[in-house]
Amino acid sequence: MNLVIASGKGGVGKSMLTSTLATLLAEKHAITAADCDADTPNLAIWLGGIDKWDKILPVEASAKPKIDLDKCNGCSLCAQKCRFGALKMKAGKPVLNPFLCEGCGACEAVCPQKAIKLEPVQNGEIKIKKNQNGFSFVSGQLLPGETGSGKIVDQIKAEADKFNSEIVIIDSAPGTGCPVIAAFKGADFAVLIAEPTPSGFTDMQRTLDIVKHFKIPYGIVINKWDINSELSTEIEKWAGQNFLGKITYDKKIFKAISSLTPILKTDLKAKEEIENIFHNLEPKIAGILK
Ligand code: SF4
Ligand code: SF4
Repeated sequence: MNLVIASGKGGVGKSMLTSTLATLLAEKHAITAADCDADTPNLAIWLGGIDKWDKILPVEASAKPKIDLDKCNGCSLCAQKCRFGALKMKAGKPVLNPFLCEGCGACEAVCPQKAIKLEPVQNGEIKIKKNQNGFSFVSGQLLPGETGSGKIVDQIKAEADKFNSEIVIIDSAPGTGCPVIAAFKGADFAVLIAEPTPSGFTDMQRTLDIVKHFKIPYGIVINKWDINSELSTEIEKWAGQNFLGKITYDKKIFKAISSLTPILKTDLKAKEEIENIFHNLEPKIAGILK
């Protein structure tokens, strides 16, 4: 099964929750963890191991135009049709700014001289560990300035699937964009985590719209519930039977993570609270695992 951990916005504890649930799940199941937040992957930090990768693979999940200037007659159609402003005419010939190019292919399609051809470029890398805290782990990252985060998520998931684990636990990017949709593709269960702030709640509801669109069963977790106990109670009531639990705000969590100490190796309150969330999650995914 694919278990996706997602949130409406960044910095709400998604990777903390994923890393801890992954370690707890691995005590009973063969699992693979996949960090699919390709713009800012940090699951390795929460798992306490940022080095010693077994494999690092280049990813070519993007394409950029290659222009044959000998064939080009300088008509400027490509520059006119590029809605991202990535092509500018200079001295009668198109010049590409690769950082603005989205690889859409419009320039190739309109060139009357067939002088443009889209060619694959490396836009990221995937790192793999066969054993991180007792399970396999795949993490992906876009290169600076590159596009195609949705496509790289597809490739991270494909690499994770190669381990043939019972469960792939996916740390999604936050929000509602391409990498999030790609993370939810084929999901069997989603856990959404939010902070009890007005924007935290509404952002989470936007992500929940995607979950509901794909008819994925889900659970709700509140992090830092005590920064706004009133709104926290409101979210808990709103979540109803989908509520999985809540985690207390604790500055010591940041100290633990800055020394690469996973939550389960601490005696923090968050450890017990996430264990409780895990116990509430188990019966909800048991039917899917059968
Ligand atoms: S591929 Fe698209 S974004 Fe890139 S230069 Fe061509 S038209 Fe512009
Ligand atoms: S559309 Fe083709 S021929 Fe025209 S300027 Fe661009 S590359 Fe040159």
